[in-house]
Amino acid sequence: MKIGVLALQGDFAEHISVLEGIGVEAVEVRLPEQLQGLDGVIIPGGESTTIGKLATAYNLMEPLRLFGSEKAIWGTCAGAILLSSDIHSHQPLLGLMDSTVKRNAFGRQVASFEAELDVPALKSSGLGEQPYHAIFIRAPLIESLGKEARSLAQLPDGWIVAVEQGRLLATSFHPELSTDDRFHRYFLSLVSR
Ligand code: GLN
Repeated sequence: MKIGVLALQGDFAEHISVLEGIGVEAVEVRLPEQLQGLDGVIIPGGESTTIGKLATAYNLMEPLRLFGSEKAIWGTCAGAILLSSDIHSHQPLLGLMDSTVKRNAFGRQVASFEAELDVPALKSSGLGEQPYHAIFIRAPLIESLGKEARSLAQLPDGWIVAVEQGRLLATSFHPELSTDDRFHRYFLSLVSR
């Protein structure tokens, strides 16, 4: 299995090191032709406006849409914003996931926090019963989902922070900054689904 990590901006290196820790081949993607031969793609956290502008300039938007219509893509934080179809403002989006997302949803003062999440999908995939310790950094919230998408995890107040739609995965937190690799393993299960 070979996974590409979009390496235009943000914490792509951290994703690559988690994947390599699991024993999966991971490569940086900056050009459309580098999508060839990949089984899945991760869009990392960072700044979604910057990643979107660079992906547009590098002619990656349409090839990524095509890739995501056939294969697995996981967006973490800024990547979850890029995957969505509506964010109430104008910036380049892939629009692959039927979700409405609110950027920087937690405001400045509480922009970064950590939370224990109950994730039934990790349990039912045999990835362990313990809660998932999630790191949120100027995180978006997933406000609403279309029929095809399903919530995988919510904060105690009910806000959705992880979503799956077919082989697309979006998390508003940063599994690449955690020592818990279960979300990466879960994504690999979507890749080979
Ligand atoms: N606030 C960023 C954005 O709107 C996302 C933050 C992140 O990826 N940690 O793009």
